[in-house]
Amino acid sequence: MGETLSIAVVGSGPAAFYAAGALLASEDPVVQVDMIERLPTPWGLVRLGVAPDHPQLKTVSRAFEKISARPGFRFLGNVEVGRDVGHDELAALYDAVVYAVGSQSDRRLGIPGEELPGSWAATELVAWYNGHPDFQHLVFDLSHERAVVIGNGNVALDVARMLALTSEELAPTDTTDTAIAAIVSSGIREIVVLGRRGPVQAAWTSTELGELGDLAGADVVVDPDELELDPASEAELDGASNVVQRNLEILRDFAARKPKGAPKVVRLRFRASPVAILGDDRVEAVEIAHNLLEPDGRGSVRAVPTEEREVLPCGIVFRSVGYRGVALPDVPYDEGTGTIPNDGGRVLAADGTPLAGVYCAGWIKRGPTGVIGTNKKDATETVELLLEDARAGRLRARSSGSIDDLLAERGVYVVMYRGWESIDAAEKARGEPHGRPRVKLATWDELLAASRGS
Ligand code: NAP
Repeated sequence: MGETLSIAVVGSGPAAFYAAGALLASEDPVVQVDMIERLPTPWGLVRLGVAPDHPQLKTVSRAFEKISARPGFRFLGNVEVGRDVGHDELAALYDAVVYAVGSQSDRRLGIPGEELPGSWAATELVAWYNGHPDFQHLVFDLSHERAVVIGNGNVALDVARMLALTSEELAPTDTTDTAIAAIVSSGIREIVVLGRRGPVQAAWTSTELGELGDLAGADVVVDPDELELDPASEAELDGASNVVQRNLEILRDFAARKPKGAPKVVRLRFRASPVAILGDDRVEAVEIAHNLLEPDGRGSVRAVPTEEREVLPCGIVFRSVGYRGVALPDVPYDEGTGTIPNDGGRVLAADGTPLAGVYCAGWIKRGPTGVIGTNKKDATETVELLLEDARAGRLRARSSGSIDDLLAERGVYVVMYRGWESIDAAEKARGEPHGRPRVKLATWDELLAASRGS
């Protein structure tokens, strides 16, 4: 082809970096990538979602650093698409745009009381303890004895575990100091995790489940009766993955344990759906329906509420029932799925035909599922189609302007990769004397000042 392709990748989480890596690896055509990110910091959920007591998961950032060091890569932080630059402008300035913006909101339960003070999206707590600058003003009242976490995914386990960690367990992490102080001095004694279906259908992974059994300051409690399987779950278990089999073994081990008398308890419950969050001015309890499980005709089971109800008093609720995408101005969006309509990563217009030069990758493409590595295959698929389109001449011709000029005209202060490196160095220097990987800068002012090297 000869000419260098200029591609904008919007977002800087795993899918964005894997897309950038695959693009920069192309020799024909040669590609340069501008990664456009609304925060002054890259890495998306690797920095702001992965639990701080899971530093090994965060080491994937080293692979992202290597990608950032490749010729042709630029990071443009503190630039928001829809505010500082529009989709149409990006589409005109670049040969193609890849949206890898993740799922920035949360799914709702749709039950009464969901909006009461004290009812939080789990993702809000996660962003807060991870130092996301948009979430530091939140005040979680952790003074009550019982917290309820709704959902049986890995985020629910992260939240339950983080609330149960001791000061010794939190000390070597990059949890914000505010969050450490709040968790350590919290009045929470019991964290109840509610699954609407059974142990066989739980979405968590075995390592994350097993960790609950190793907490220094909490006993994990499971009622053996709740591990009794209905015939449909027995049948599902037969053909289930090793993860599901292993999860059940771990749960049976938990159920057989004698509590060690730790200060906190994490209680895992099944076949329990919240039907209302109760309280006058704030959360005071969750009303739960006990469920029966019925075959769903697709090899699994659905939860069917019985008349049996229970009111579980609690002071705070974390709804952990999945993330949800957010629409970008002028970019197609499917409200039903919370994703950008696409075919393998080629963004589709309203008439179902591919929109020339517009692509997506990661959670905004397939929904909020899978682990970090899942995004590699996903982003690679998108990039292969993009390169195929480029070779076939299916991209739109780009205009002659540059994003640098456009942002400069608008007075946007862009945090380039060097600016992020200054933030990174400042955070690491703050952490080093305390044996912590970093102490995060968690306000916009601090982040922008550090990016300027001040
Ligand atoms: P998730 O894995 O999709 O789990 C969502 C949970 O919410 C499921 O148990 C689901 O139950 C339940 N749920 C949905 N609607 C509900 C309702 N109306 N009432 C009660 N329960 C409801 O989502 P996630 O935990 O947010 O995690 C997102 C992704 O990130 C996952 O792929 C996860 O593995 C990944 N992640 C990985 C790690 C790690 O590897 N350490 C850490 C965090 C997150 P049903 O099955 O019945 O729908």
